[in-house]
Amino acid sequence: MFIVRNISNLQTIQTLQTIRSCPLCKNYSTYKLRYIMKKSYFLLLLLAGIFFLFPACQNKAAYKALIVTGQSNHNWEGAYPILKELLVQTNLFTVDVAKTPAKGGDMSSFQPDFKKYNVVVMDYNGESWSEKTKAAFLAYVKNGGGVVIYHEADNSFADWKEYNEIIGLGGWNNRSAKNGPYVYYMKNKLVVDSISTGPTGSHGPQHEYVVKARNTEHPIMKGLPTSWIHGKDELYSTLRGPAKNMEILATAYADTAFKGTGRDEPMLMTLRYGKGRIFHTVMGHVGKEETHPATECVGFIVTFQRGTEWAASGKVTQAVPLDFPNIGGAVSRPDYKETTLADDLDKISKYTIDRSTRNYTDLQGRIRKVSANPAALLDIEKKMVKVLQDRDATVEGKKLLLRELAWMGSSYCVPAVQELLKNADLKEAATFTLERMKGPRKN
Ligand code: ZN
Repeated sequence: MFIVRNISNLQTIQTLQTIRSCPLCKNYSTYKLRYIMKKSYFLLLLLAGIFFLFPACQNKAAYKALIVTGQSNHNWEGAYPILKELLVQTNLFTVDVAKTPAKGGDMSSFQPDFKKYNVVVMDYNGESWSEKTKAAFLAYVKNGGGVVIYHEADNSFADWKEYNEIIGLGGWNNRSAKNGPYVYYMKNKLVVDSISTGPTGSHGPQHEYVVKARNTEHPIMKGLPTSWIHGKDELYSTLRGPAKNMEILATAYADTAFKGTGRDEPMLMTLRYGKGRIFHTVMGHVGKEETHPATECVGFIVTFQRGTEWAASGKVTQAVPLDFPNIGGAVSRPDYKETTLADDLDKISKYTIDRSTRNYTDLQGRIRKVSANPAALLDIEKKMVKVLQDRDATVEGKKLLLRELAWMGSSYCVPAVQELLKNADLKEAATFTLERMKGPRKN
């Protein structure tokens, strides 16, 4: 490479020497430098062009994930594209999907090459695999492969001893006390109950519920609120299992009002098996219904994304998004994409009173989150002012923004608000904002 470059430079110099010196300064070395810089600039432009034209060059995915699916008592055909999309949007994963044959098919043909992957996401609740495939899966985990157990995957393989050690806790499919103790929290204390009898695996009607962190320092949990509202979902209860090398990261109270156990049931868990790391989420039911509020919940999305990264690598690099829910209410992403400030302001600029105020609520959340950061607050305010100045933005949308600026606006927004006094439809709202802003303020 070096030699080639040197020869090429030498040729360049020779060519230059034979042709001309710099027409401006008559200085050959300056001209040579300019010529080479011009060439480098052109090369840089070319590289930048290739980078933007071919997105594949930008793919920085660090890990390979395999989703295993193909049989389930759930809507696996609806679920795996959601799980795939959620992993792809982190830009951390390339994702393959391995489907088993349908029920009754020739299971011996199902032989994914697990060891090619950093993490295997189990979205499977069906017939037993061949002994060869089971052995390959166990070898993969023992040698340090990551596993994510998603929702009904902890119903699967009730009789496969090692699989139950990998999931820690499971339910249904004739599981019983022989599978291990009940494990849950009661009055903030961990209970491991090998004595009680009863069902193994249960849930009441779907509902929203509070998820409570039990370890706020684990990489998956760091930066998340200590409690948040989870979107409408089943609340898995009365799970049993070996629960060896298992840590419960979060629980949810199974309210008796929803036919629950009255216990704090495990929702998020991590386990070690050999050198392998396992992340287990019992949340995220996907049924036959058209919408799937459990997987649209930002709490599910983010813990699934973070848990999968941890299972693949032992660390979590993803930032906690602004729209992560808290105890104030569940937050949903109906299209599985994080709503940006630009999205919110665009929707508010088109707002009419017959439409949802979701984007306004989002905006309020964003403002609350940065309320102690004047620079970030001013940045939002500047973008809100742009909407106030937009002639195409609706009167109702501008009224929402004026209401918000009344308490968070700085002197920056005053000229734009004063301008709205000239608008008969907005005069009252603008006056209110300016009056409120005259109160005891720092800026
Ligand atoms: Zn379910």
